[in-house]
Amino acid sequence: MVDLHGQYLKIKDEIDSGIRSVIDSCAFINGPQVKDFTAHLSEYMGGCHVITCANGTDALQIALMALGLKPGDEVIVPAFTYVASAEVIGLLQLTPVMVDVDYDTFNISVEAMKKSLTTKTKAIIPVHLFGQSCNMAPILEFAKEHGLYVIEDNAQAIGSEYTFSDGRKAKTGTMGTIGCTSFFPSKNLGCYGDGGALFTNDDSLAECIRMIANHGQKVKYHHSVIGCNSRLDTIQAAVLDVKLKHLDEYCTARHTAAQYYTHAIKQIDPVERLFVTPVEASYSTHVYHQYTLKIKGGHRDALKAYLADNGVPSMIYYPLPLQEQDAFKPITRASGSLDVAKECADSVLSLPMHTELTHDVQNMILNSLESFINAL
Ligand SMILES: *Cc1c(COP(=O)(O)O)cnc(C)c1O
Repeated sequence: MVDLHGQYLKIKDEIDSGIRSVIDSCAFINGPQVKDFTAHLSEYMGGCHVITCANGTDALQIALMALGLKPGDEVIVPAFTYVASAEVIGLLQLTPVMVDVDYDTFNISVEAMKKSLTTKTKAIIPVHLFGQSCNMAPILEFAKEHGLYVIEDNAQAIGSEYTFSDGRKAKTGTMGTIGCTSFFPSKNLGCYGDGGALFTNDDSLAECIRMIANHGQKVKYHHSVIGCNSRLDTIQAAVLDVKLKHLDEYCTARHTAAQYYTHAIKQIDPVERLFVTPVEASYSTHVYHQYTLKIKGGHRDALKAYLADNGVPSMIYYPLPLQEQDAFKPITRASGSLDVAKECADSVLSLPMHTELTHDVQNMILNSLESFINAL
C-alpha cells in the first residue's frame, strides 16, 4: 500500500544526518530541530501559528480542550471518517453528532451539517478525507452565523489547497478556528514514529494550546489548567524538517499516480459498470492520501480477495461508519439519514498509493482490475 523504504532511500543522507545530529546533541526533548521545523511548517502553511504535539489524535483532543467545551456540548462530525475524528469528542464527554457525507467527495455534507444544528451545538469537525478539502466556504459561513467553532481534521490532506469563490486560496488546516494534523508514517507528511500538530491564526488560542499541550503550564511548575503531556520528539522533527522540503513534490507524485489510475480505469470500465473513480472537487486540490474507488453491485469483497490472490494489496478505509461502532452507539446523536456513509463503508476500496509508484506497478494492478471485470 505504501513504500516508505523507497522514499527514504532517496533522502537517506539528509535524514541520517538529521537524526545523527539529534543523537550527537542528546537534545531529545524540545531540541532546536523542533523549533526549526515548526517555523518551516508555519511558513509552508501561510504563516499561521504551529504547535507540534505527539500525534494527530492528541491534536484533536487538545483543540477541543482549548476551546473550553463542556460535557453535553454537541460537536458535529461526519459519520464516515477515521475513528480519531470522533473519539476525542467522546473522550471529553461531549456529544458527537453524526452527519452524512457527500457520495462524490466522501466529505461532510453541508446540507446534513446545517440540519443537525441544535441549541447545544458548539463546534464542527470537517474532515478533509483522503486528501481533498471539504467545501469550506459554506461551512465557515454557517459556523460564523451560529457562533460555532470549526476544527479542521487535516490529518489526510496536508498540502491541499482550497479555493474560495473570489479566487483566494488557503491551505487546508488554516481556515477554521483550529486545524489539526498527524505525522503518522504513512500520512502525506509522515515521520518515523508518531507526531502531530495544531494550526491556528488566533494568538491567544495558540498560547492556550501551547499551555494545554505542556501540562497546563506557562511557567514551569505553575499549572493554570489541567493539560496533558504531548510533544513532538526532536528526532521526529529532524525527519519532518527534511521531508517538508519534499512535500509539494510528494503531493504531485500522488496526484500524477492517481490520474494514471483514473485514466486507465475509465478505459477499462467506461460506463462505470463496476468502478467509480475518485471525484476531484472544483474548489480543492487533491493530494490523494488514499486512492479510493467505490465498487458497485456488491462486488467489493470479491474484488479485494481477487486482488489479494494476484498479489495486489488493497484496503477498506473504513469498513464501518461511526454510527455502527459499538463505542459510539451509546453516546452519539445521529442526525438525519446516514445512508451515504453506510454506502461508502460497504463499497470503498483503496488501491496502493504512495510517492514511489511506477507505471509498471500500476499496470500490474490495473491488469488485475481488468481481468476481474472481464470475468464478471
Ligand atoms: C491518522 C488520522 C488521525 C489521527 O492521527 P494519529 O497521529 O494516528 O493519532 C485523525 N484523523 C484522521 C482523519 C486520520 O486519518
